[in-house]
Amino acid sequence: METCLFCKIIKGEIPSSKVFENEFVFAFRDINPQAPVHVLVVPKEHIASLDDTAGVSDRLLAECLRAIPVIAAQEGLTGGYRVISNCGPDACQSVPHLHFHILGGAQLPDRMA
Ligand code: AMP
Repeated sequence: METCLFCKIIKGEIPSSKVFENEFVFAFRDINPQAPVHVLVVPKEHIASLDDTAGVSDRLLAECLRAIPVIAAQEGLTGGYRVISNCGPDACQSVPHLHFHILGGAQLPDRMA
């Protein structure tokens, strides 16, 4: 999608700190990290959020999930990590392109919200 920030990052039109890429998935460091490791995992196809995945291929969704432990291992998150996907205004989703936050590298708070 032409106006989407993450589509522009995937295309290289906006710089990012890439940590992983394959045919389906792109991952890069969050510009405003909320943990020592904070990576965003995004499908290369534009999907607005989890609410918009009904027509999306199972393969693409599986590739997003399967990339997460690969990236976590690459980032040295041997003690564990948290995965979050904010969906819609109540969750404060700020970029309408499906993404999974990987947070780790420290003991995270027990409460998630
Ligand atoms: P969310 O609020 O769940 O939609 O997450 C969007 C995330 O994108 C936020 O954590 C932002 O810090 C992050 N973000 C926004 N712009 C950029 C950018 N240019 N590069 C990397 N991360 C970004």
